[in-house]
Amino acid sequence: MSPLPAFEARLTVDLDALARNLATLRREAGAAEVAPVVKADAYGLGLAPVARRLQAEGARRFFVARLNEGEALRQALGAGPVIYVLDGCPPGAAQRLALAALTPVLNSVQQARDWGPREAALHVDTGLNRLGVSAAEARALAQGPAPIGLVMSHLACGHAPEHPANARQRDAFAAVRQAFPAAIASLANSAGVFLGEAYRFDLVRPGISLYGGGPFERPDPRIEPVASFEAPILQVRDVAPGDGVGYGSAFVADRPMRVAILAAGYADGVLRAASPNGRVWFDGARRSLLGRVSMDLIAVDVTGSAAARPGAMAQLIGRDLPLDEAAAAAGTISYELLTRLSARAARASLGAA
Ligand SMILES: *Cc1c(COP(=O)(O)O)cnc(C)c1O
Repeated sequence: MSPLPAFEARLTVDLDALARNLATLRREAGAAEVAPVVKADAYGLGLAPVARRLQAEGARRFFVARLNEGEALRQALGAGPVIYVLDGCPPGAAQRLALAALTPVLNSVQQARDWGPREAALHVDTGLNRLGVSAAEARALAQGPAPIGLVMSHLACGHAPEHPANARQRDAFAAVRQAFPAAIASLANSAGVFLGEAYRFDLVRPGISLYGGGPFERPDPRIEPVASFEAPILQVRDVAPGDGVGYGSAFVADRPMRVAILAAGYADGVLRAASPNGRVWFDGARRSLLGRVSMDLIAVDVTGSAAARPGAMAQLIGRDLPLDEAAAAAGTISYELLTRLSARAARASLGAA
């Protein structure tokens, strides 16, 4: 795949594919502004290169979760864009938020008091019961002290389009936003963008589908892969019937097999739960993970492949092994798989930052 030899697992982030996903989300969003969510190091893909490319593509408002993420993003992007911090204004945070010109998404009456008469966003809870003020509290906060420039809520079940909670939350949000006629209104995450016009309001906040995850937790042809995670083969060995592979001999061969040992383990972000259902793409086919994932290594069945030799690269996530499929095999979702990719893996990017 790559002409250069690789000695460790490698994460390649395709910034051009990221830009195409942004364009797709903009098309789907119609008149609504697309404001990228770049929390958790842009879902593990690298905050600065991802956010700079999105800024170059015209994004003007960004969301992060934490104060320190907001500060890092301000450093990366400079003074221009609006940066919303979803944690809001926790006790003692007001000064640092103000210093970095961050906009807290206030989520309690106490936070509104602590932030005072400065411009803010407001999170209204409409059924997720995570962060946010009640509709009644929101109506009271519409009178001040903070001028609310953006009012938002978050869907609990957006990934399940038929779930009745979606319409309930949409209606509750449409009602409460009436109290903020001058504010930008925002409800939709990636899934919400695809739920129809009634969910889009003025601004949408996609994260995962920018980064290659399907909006409904399965591969989606409208969304392009962005992350490619590959690992080199370190050694190829023959095992005989009755031989165990890896810790605990959790896999025992029932026939002669060729086994490739790859330089990727849970310290690189291969979830231990990827055993026993995980797959790796190698030499034109999906191949089974054998036995337990260890810290530095995994074993893969390459029986019948003439291409298996040290230095050859296998794909764990990418065009041939979709992110959502790899996540499902490990009993999780794309979000967790991406954000667990560790700093040990080498990083590369395609396309301009
Ligand atoms: C993480 C997050 C998003 C982005 O969600 P995706 O499902 O990744 O598109 C949007 N809004 C809020 C409040 C979030 O916490």
